[in-house]
Amino acid sequence: MIRHACGLFGISGHPEAARHAYFGLYAQQHRGQESAGIATWDGNTLHEQRGMGLVHDVFSEANLQRLPGDNAIGHVRYGTSATASLRDAQPFTVHHQGRGIALAHNGRLVNSEELRRTLEADGAIFRTAGDCELFMHLIIRAMRRNSLEDAIIEACSQVRGSYCLVLLMGDTLIGLRDPYGLHPLVLGSLEDCHVLVSETCALDLLEADLLRIVEPGEMVIIQNGSLRSLRLAPAQTPKQCIFELVYFGRPDSLIFGEQVYLCRKRMGWQLASEGTPDVDFVMPFPDSGVYAAVGFAQCADLPYEHAMIRNHYVGRTFIQPSQSMRDFSARVKINPVRPMIADKRICIVDDSIVRGTTMLARVKKLRELGAREVHIRISCPPVRFPCAYGIDFSSRGELIAASKSVEEMRRLFDADSLHHLSLQGLARSVAHPDHYCLACLTGEYPVPLEAGHGQQTCGTR
Ligand code: AMP
Ligand code: SF4
Repeated sequence: MIRHACGLFGISGHPEAARHAYFGLYAQQHRGQESAGIATWDGNTLHEQRGMGLVHDVFSEANLQRLPGDNAIGHVRYGTSATASLRDAQPFTVHHQGRGIALAHNGRLVNSEELRRTLEADGAIFRTAGDCELFMHLIIRAMRRNSLEDAIIEACSQVRGSYCLVLLMGDTLIGLRDPYGLHPLVLGSLEDCHVLVSETCALDLLEADLLRIVEPGEMVIIQNGSLRSLRLAPAQTPKQCIFELVYFGRPDSLIFGEQVYLCRKRMGWQLASEGTPDVDFVMPFPDSGVYAAVGFAQCADLPYEHAMIRNHYVGRTFIQPSQSMRDFSARVKINPVRPMIADKRICIVDDSIVRGTTMLARVKKLRELGAREVHIRISCPPVRFPCAYGIDFSSRGELIAASKSVEEMRRLFDADSLHHLSLQGLARSVAHPDHYCLACLTGEYPVPLEAGHGQQTCGTR
């Protein structure tokens, strides 16, 4: 499975900070399932708990009790630049000159190798492979000459790439977004406290109110109930990750000012307006593509069906399937409603094709079940270039659209037709089309890459 970005949480001045962090991360579990962590400050000591797995695997009532304090930050992670291990789980914490500092990062730096080499040459020792530790070194070094805020601004002036950060030092909570605003961060309020989250679905679970988006290039400083805002860099045209809207974000979240559900429906609507096949019905494979499929069916005035049913209760099982149970892992998650498929002309709508493996298996399955025609509609343009900013696609060599034309993909999938949403159609689906990064679709990277960066695998798999 390909992996995606991380989820952040921060809260200041709440007596149940760790418990709120737990639920804030729980709501953002879709942003990272590899590890979870919370750090709290109780006025004297920095406490921390991190572990591999889902939020509810890592935290129990007992270990939440061991996270006292009114201030907390939290993180759910999907590895993008470092290997999957507890060592790389965040928040990353250090003690320096008697002060505990905790930091969590969503994104990926493109000049980390160069910075790491410079820091190591100057005697720095690293214990993780992640960007978070790099940030920590830069901030702490800059603190020799500066206040915490100025040190962060100086550290940010040295890095390039995507970074959303939450930082806790003593009773100061800081949240910031890189100048392009590649990934989301919003500010909320809960019972006179400030809350920072990647996605608004976390605010909804906490019954917190949305105050506003943290702007690209903005740093917010929350201390003793007051909020200040500083700029990291002069304002410029944002380049926010379009994939947050296409695939990653939860549909009930407001991301970059767009309600993800409505945005995906508009992508589906635009897709249908670019041509609809003559079919009996439109269907998604749950859950990807569901909302685009709704928009597509409404625009095309075609019936919308759920002919594939997802098992929502799939968890980890330690019992191995028997030798004869072929394709077990796919079948355990999703199962067809057989009479819906036999002899039908079907249009599948999905959000994206990355390596093509999923689509190949889906069309094969529908053919085995007797589908007469299978048409594919994809609600974003072909993904031809790797992401350098924290979204885990494969290397360009593994992205199927990097080496095959749409017609070649159609033949490979054994589909009757295949069409991707055009760049123009995608632009019509969002309020500010020029505010988005489209690098994986166009190859135009808003933040220049280090030499060779684009050729490498963009994340762990
Ligand atoms: P693939 O088999 O590699 O073509 O995967 C495509 C499927 O993965 C689509 O159904 C998407 O919904 C989903 N997808 C797209 N991007 C990502 C991503 N970065 N991480 C995980 N899944 C993704
Ligand atoms: Fe998002 Fe694609 Fe840009 Fe990566 S390259 S940040 S996935 S839009």
